[in-house]
Amino acid sequence: MSDKPHPRVFVISGPSGVGKSTLIQAALRDHPDLVMSISHTTRPPRHGESNGVHYFFVNREIFQRLIEKDGFLEWAEVYGNLYGTSRDHIHARLREGHSVLLDIDTQGAHSLRELSRGGCYIFVAPPSLEALRQRLVHRGTETPESLSRRMNKARDEMTHMDLYDHVVVNDKKDTAALEFLNILNMEIARNVPFRFVDPAAEHDEVHEEMERIGRDLSHHLTRRVSLNIGRTLDKTLERLVAASLESNLT
Ligand code: 5GP
Repeated sequence: MSDKPHPRVFVISGPSGVGKSTLIQAALRDHPDLVMSISHTTRPPRHGESNGVHYFFVNREIFQRLIEKDGFLEWAEVYGNLYGTSRDHIHARLREGHSVLLDIDTQGAHSLRELSRGGCYIFVAPPSLEALRQRLVHRGTETPESLSRRMNKARDEMTHMDLYDHVVVNDKKDTAALEFLNILNMEIARNVPFRFVDPAAEHDEVHEEMERIGRDLSHHLTRRVSLNIGRTLDKTLERLVAASLESNLT
């Protein structure tokens, strides 16, 4: 048997400004088999970002066409822009034997959970919403409107934390990175196989299983009832025989 772990999907989510990129860099450095998923987005590239490295930057028309062609495993609108995980991209990486790390929002994580089994979901939370606000203000990239939009989204994302297998609170950068790497190591050691599911087929499987349980139960109950009737009849017969013997004797 090979020692190579099953290729698996790891999802990292968390509010903008929480420090996901530092944790992602640490993970990619420590795990050469782990590759980053490159999403498609309609948002324009930021300074220093390049096409095919950070994102596939496309316009709305192309994005829409990809939706129609069922090209995305999941897609969502975030801060007015569209973001999507390409079906082909993920399948190809997994087929090559790589585990894939997806930096997607809570909507995307939720969709992925619905259509797959065995993924690992990690949420990165700020120590508090106020601490997050301070970080975004210090970063100096936000207008008052975009700051308030990001804070609203953060508040909403924090309500979906229970969807995740692990939560890392990013209070101190180094400690959070260590914690994140420990989680990854532990999850890689668990070596859980990852697979996509067809929700309709799953529904049929569950339905069949419930019918089978129902059939077994009714068979079991019928057997018990007939056994009990048998026992009751035996006892009644015994009593009748005893009564008739008694009356014959008297
Ligand atoms: P940014 O524009 O700052 O790179 O990303 C904004 C948000 O979009 C982040 O929370 C990121 O996790 C999310 N995001 C990036 N790619 C995807 C994707 O393919 N699907 C979903 N659902 N969210 C994504």
